[in-house]
Amino acid sequence: MLNRRRFLQRGLAASFVVSPLFQRVNATAVASKEPVVISTWNHGMPANEVAWKVLQSGGTALDAVEQGVRVPEGDPEVMSVGFGGRPDRDGHVTLDACIMDDKGNAGSVSFLEHIKHPISVARLVMEKTPHVMLSGDGALEFALQNGFKTENLLTEEAKRQWEAWKEQSDYQPEVNIENHDTISMLALDQQGNLSGACTTSGLAYKMHGRVGDSPIIGAGMFCDNEVGAAAATGHGEWVMRTVGSFLVVELMRQGHSPQEACEEAVMRIVKLKPNFDEVQIGYIAISKAGETGAYCLHPGFNYALYRDGQNKLIDADAYVK
Ligand code: ASP
Repeated sequence: MLNRRRFLQRGLAASFVVSPLFQRVNATAVASKEPVVISTWNHGMPANEVAWKVLQSGGTALDAVEQGVRVPEGDPEVMSVGFGGRPDRDGHVTLDACIMDDKGNAGSVSFLEHIKHPISVARLVMEKTPHVMLSGDGALEFALQNGFKTENLLTEEAKRQWEAWKEQSDYQPEVNIENHDTISMLALDQQGNLSGACTTSGLAYKMHGRVGDSPIIGAGMFCDNEVGAAAATGHGEWVMRTVGSFLVVELMRQGHSPQEACEEAVMRIVKLKPNFDEVQIGYIAISKAGETGAYCLHPGFNYALYRDGQNKLIDADAYVK
């Protein structure tokens, strides 16, 4: 008969035999202490500058991503995020955002109107409520209770474009590969911890009430401090259908590099939608070791990478050549 100690020893040995995956996770889990910030699109450049300052002064990845993405949220010239974002087809600017820290805590808001910095509301949802996501009027009420002020987010320029769109649109929600540009940002801090943030006004001229991937933990962004973090931009419906950011992180857990993981996540969409002319998807990823990757479906997606004291805008490799 097995005594308890031998039984436990056997159990341990057996778990190593059946779980080579855990060994691979351990192999990739060596944390880098060199800060890195990666974020989507051109507007990632000024956002990275702010995030980098936070990291350089020893701040957390969580503070870095929140402070970083607030830059395009507050910039009316960035017409796909926050203040100045393009409205839905009824003229409402509705915002989606999420944030995740190194302990697996997550917060998000969706379908939020009148608040310029939805990422900071998402952070408060994470820190002050027992929930992960607040939506619509409830999210607005929570923001107001916490000192946020309502503002008109529809700028004259966004209104002008929306009115021009209405004349030709037949009132159909229109999708093309140009009318969206979420900011997603991932950061690794000097303590070797990861966090991520994602914030957007979503697809321009979407149906009223439409929520995209960006506030959905695991779709628009996911962070697992043992493995890595990933985030998305592009047609959220396809990211949601494939739980894209979670997929990228899980592929990294299985031993794939961030680059390979982003490529495979794009391939899953190609397999589901072989006729992908009107779909654009971009992924960014970072591993615990500070290695990064990015990939997109059509050429045209770029990302900002800040490492070794240098901020660079890089064209992502694309599936369509
Ligand atoms: N992913 C966003 C959405 O579907 C759009 C974007 O990346 O700009 O709402």
